[in-house]
Amino acid sequence: MIKKGDIVTLEISDYTGEGSGVGKINLQGTESLFPLFVSNTAIGDVVEAVVTKVNRSYAFASILKILEPAPDRVDPVCPVTGRCGGCTFRHISYDAQLKWKESAVENTMKRIGGIESGDYELCPIIGAEDRDRYRNKAQYPVGTFIDKKTGKRHTITGFYAGRSHRIVESEDCLIEDRFNAVILKSIREYADKNHISAYNEKTGEGLLRHVLIRTAYHTGEIMVCLIVNAKRSDEMCYRSLYKLADQIYEMEGVVSALLNFNNRKTNVIMGDEELILKGKSSITDYIGENKYEISARSFYQVNPLQTEKLYDKALEYAGLTGNEIVWDLYCGIGTISLFLARHAKAVYGVEIVSAAVEDAKFNAALNGIENAFFYLGKAEDVSAELPEPDVIVVDPPRKGCDEKLIETINRSAVKKLVYVSCNHATLARDAALLKEEGWKLEILQPVDMFPQTSGVETVALLSKLDVISI
Ligand code: SAH
Repeated sequence: MIKKGDIVTLEISDYTGEGSGVGKINLQGTESLFPLFVSNTAIGDVVEAVVTKVNRSYAFASILKILEPAPDRVDPVCPVTGRCGGCTFRHISYDAQLKWKESAVENTMKRIGGIESGDYELCPIIGAEDRDRYRNKAQYPVGTFIDKKTGKRHTITGFYAGRSHRIVESEDCLIEDRFNAVILKSIREYADKNHISAYNEKTGEGLLRHVLIRTAYHTGEIMVCLIVNAKRSDEMCYRSLYKLADQIYEMEGVVSALLNFNNRKTNVIMGDEELILKGKSSITDYIGENKYEISARSFYQVNPLQTEKLYDKALEYAGLTGNEIVWDLYCGIGTISLFLARHAKAVYGVEIVSAAVEDAKFNAALNGIENAFFYLGKAEDVSAELPEPDVIVVDPPRKGCDEKLIETINRSAVKKLVYVSCNHATLARDAALLKEEGWKLEILQPVDMFPQTSGVETVALLSKLDVISI
């Protein structure tokens, strides 16, 4: 058996869903190969690594030396690569990233869903033109750096290291907007000058927890939200931030400067309440011809250009003619619903977060769309009460659809299902359940929404007929 501290030589042959390299070793006295997960490695690397944690069926190891580099390795460019937990694929060529994502979707469908690749059409992954600076949202933790020699301290912002809450200081993240670095610098300088403390997760003390920055791709509007360890009623705690908000609001593009209150000792970043310090409570953006108001806590896809391609595919697969009743389950702020509504008789959206349902109704009105209706509740509970659909679109969170919803879909007379998925493992599980009831997976279309990471989004078309023409 291997143990913590052992040094092993490994060839990397795959990646985990989180983007760590996987290498397998033969353990003495056993037939099977034992997998070790080593982050910051590439398929084809031969590495020397030290074992850091051993579980029953797998272990973690940390890279010591690259003995033979993989052909797909590239210069990661980013100064904090390997330390920050963000871009797990930055050291791998973009072509190799895409190739792996496509094969990961195909392999998962076979391994978990039991559906062979020859039984459906696997479309080539839709890659991104912008591999950097593509994100429209960032949440930076705020911390304090203390110089051990001089005892001097200063405010830092950055990202968490992988699987930890240690902040890796980063002045400019390459997948985020360039201007974020300017905003963050002014916040750090203001905090240092005015003795505004950063939150300390261990003690629960200090004021500034996170900075959320959202940028609207098409309008350029920027929202800056300071997440503070205070209650709305403790005005004395956060008064010192009013001037900072004025300063931020003066910056080009900033139309919204907010405070969010979170005084709980929790990993959840945002609290339940905001206060507008300057400007609006939301920013305006477009996806296709639809206009959306995005508030601090709304779910909104982070890669605007790829989102448009994803939703276009969902719309294409729905194959609407203008006469259909469509359910859009897990509809968030109604983003896909509004796309669909322009081509359908009526769209019924269901969403569990009440603020998102309010946003969805508002966004429909904003676009003059009168045939989209939104309901608050669980997709698995509410959908059975809606008018019979011709097409169902689902876009569930990572855990996939609830089994009760799959039963509702099976009981309805619907013949066409468009499944948008951020986790192909649960998509494959649900496709297998649907297959038992006579559904056929027609098309799988992977879309790269998250370059430099292992994440991949997939749109699937399933039908209950032999062939659906789209
Ligand atoms: N389709 C939207 C949102 C997709 S994210 C878009 O593209 O923007 C998934 C959404 O499902 C989130 O808004 C989440 O709040 C919601 N959700 C999670 N569990 C749910 C459930 N059981 N029933 C309905 N909505 C749920």
